[in-house]
Amino acid sequence: MSEAIAERWLGATAAGEVRGRLIPGQLLSSVTWFRVGGPAELMFQPADAEDLAFFLKALPADAPVTVVGLGSNLLVRDGGIDGVVIRLPMKGFGKVEHLGGARLQVGASVPDKKLAEVAAKHSIGGFSFLTGIPGGIGGALRMNAGAHGSEMKDLVREVRAVDRQGTRHTLTLEEMGYAYRHSGAAKDLIFTSVIMEGELADEAQIRAQMADVVAHREKAQPIREKTGGSTFKNPEGTSAWKVVDQAGCRGYVVGGAKMSELHCNFMLNTGDASAHDLELLGETVRAKALAATGIQLDWEIKRIGKFAGAPIAPFLGEPVG
Ligand SMILES: Cc1cc2nc3c(=O)[nH]c(=O)nc-3n(C[C@H](O)[C@H](O)[C@H](O)COP(=O)(O)OP(=O)(O)OC[C@H]3O[C@@H](n4cnc5c(N)ncnc54)[C@H](O)[C@@H]3O)c2cc1C
Repeated sequence: MSEAIAERWLGATAAGEVRGRLIPGQLLSSVTWFRVGGPAELMFQPADAEDLAFFLKALPADAPVTVVGLGSNLLVRDGGIDGVVIRLPMKGFGKVEHLGGARLQVGASVPDKKLAEVAAKHSIGGFSFLTGIPGGIGGALRMNAGAHGSEMKDLVREVRAVDRQGTRHTLTLEEMGYAYRHSGAAKDLIFTSVIMEGELADEAQIRAQMADVVAHREKAQPIREKTGGSTFKNPEGTSAWKVVDQAGCRGYVVGGAKMSELHCNFMLNTGDASAHDLELLGETVRAKALAATGIQLDWEIKRIGKFAGAPIAPFLGEPVG
């Protein structure tokens, strides 16, 4: 089955040379933290960066390509994703190497939490905030993930990536174009590894910071729920949760989707929510927030893929619901 699909996409010769795994129709609800999302037409898990570059070169130029990480910041729509979805597996992209001093080379599929642990083991400070972020390093590089006053931008030195044509690149920190929860690096780049640098510090102190991060999360966030973390970016000068609260949306429900009572900028799948429920909830909250506070909330969660039914119109100023 995989072979036939690979040949259809790549042609028999190239398909025979791909070393990674091809999975037709992979349900993306099995990948996302929200546990929603339709199928990927074809999922590709490359064996390594070279295999990824070869695959992208061989793929017809008009084939759509989407990259997903650990799915902790993604709302994949119920109709799924056309074309190829790339997911970098631990095998081939899951190593952390100590380069000496406070520098680490990190594969893009390393979970943030694991990286924080390795950094602590080598007495490298500055990575503790990552212990509370449930994604992987590829997603963290794209999102400029951050918490507790630190963000990826503080640690990134050099990023390796492959573009849609299969050409390999090395990007400097400046070329990553970081801003709040955003990288301006070309959208087609798939990050494969990164060199990061912290500061040498006392291991016991680092571990105490990590414990604080974990304790704070346990108290303040619904970390054991099906969620995507912060739904909206913090607007200039205030916190998104305050705006959601002022709009009366703490605990607001649409179908199986709900704004968390504990942290009202987190959306939850309470059991049987569809991606449609979750996106409609988010758009409804945006509308109510604008009406109540005059502040427009922008999505932090990435919404991707096709609607299964009628599309949800993004809220453009008129209150809905
Ligand atoms: C309970 C909870 C708490 C959270 N707390 C925080 C927090 O404190 N701070 C914070 O910043 N975020 C937080 N998040 C959001 C999320 O964990 C981060 O954004 C994380 O960095 C996303 O990583 P991921 O691997 O899950 O990426 P995904 O969600 O799979 O993807 C996110 C984006 O990254 C892109 N991407 C993924 N891998 C690659 C790659 N290799 N190359 C290029 N692009 C790639 C995807 O295309 C997508 O656009 C939280 C989420 C949850 C569920």
